[in-house]
Amino acid sequence: HSKRAGSHGHTLYHPALIDRRAADAALADDLEHAQARGELHVLYQPLVDLNTERPIAAEALLRWQHPVHGLISPVQFIPIAERTGTINSIGMWVLEQALTQLDAFHQQNPAGPRMHISVNLSPRQLREPSIVHDILTVIARAGVDPRHLVLEVTEAVLVDEAGGIAALRALREHGIRIALDDFGTGYSSLQYLTRLPVDILKIDRSFVAELNGTAEGTAVTEAVIRLAQVLHLNTVAEGIETSNQAAELRALGCHTGQGFLYAKPLPAGEFTQLLQPS
Ligand code: C2E
Ligand code: MG
Ligand code: MG
Ligand code: MG
Repeated sequence: HSKRAGSHGHTLYHPALIDRRAADAALADDLEHAQARGELHVLYQPLVDLNTERPIAAEALLRWQHPVHGLISPVQFIPIAERTGTINSIGMWVLEQALTQLDAFHQQNPAGPRMHISVNLSPRQLREPSIVHDILTVIARAGVDPRHLVLEVTEAVLVDEAGGIAALRALREHGIRIALDDFGTGYSSLQYLTRLPVDILKIDRSFVAELNGTAEGTAVTEAVIRLAQVLHLNTVAEGIETSNQAAELRALGCHTGQGFLYAKPLPAGEFTQLLQPS
């Protein structure tokens, strides 16, 4: 246990947690400046058509190269950015990078299929009153078609409050598509899903990892795919690491996926090479 209630109602923290908190506070300060100092960069992981194995889209994934601590995982720094609000400016920066890159992908491979791009959006960003306007402004500036953008949100956004849902609805009216990320790991009820402004369910990689040819291993993934079919949503499988997983997903009716089997998140230049006809 990292903490316990003190006898006077306040919380006593163990030394390890105090260290963690101090480290987080220091990281939060550093993160304020990371963007201006050029420490952030965006990688692109292909989403492939599971039948052809060709990339049809990219997910933009943020990286932070810290001058002292080295590469820090977004799993570690996004929650900090979310707490301090830095995620608002960082998130818009990622969107701008991703859309500029999308335009570059088109121009570098004009004969290829139109690529789509996915950008993660955090709950804090959706609570900004100007979020819809801000996103549309970045899209217009980049000169891309909003129908080529997918915004990935987690169930937390949707359980959170009505404001987030209204914003997603407005974005959708402009042609942007919404994906429910890490689907199945959150706590929203299934009934809720039928009323959400969502186009795509991303099957969390913890379920993909369970695919092993047994009925038990397949149960959750199969249920999500069937649910999506009934609701006319698309599915994307995350974290595909083996060709057996890919084969099971295809057999179950999921036709888009991403994972280390195909490619890790890549710098834009390497991603472009994947787009060249083979
Ligand atoms: P996510 O949106 O669910 O992104 C997928 C994560 O799964 C990525 O981790 C990706 O590198 C990893 N992944 C992809 N294929 C495989 C695989 O085959 N095996 C395994 N084990 N992992 C795989 P990453 O890049 O570390 O990002 C972690 C999370 O951080 C993301 O999860 C997302 O929630 C958040 N994140 C990343 N970039 C941004 C951003 O720009 N904005 C916001 N708000 N969140 C971000
Ligand atoms: Mg995502
Ligand atoms: Mg995900
Ligand atoms: Mg995930």
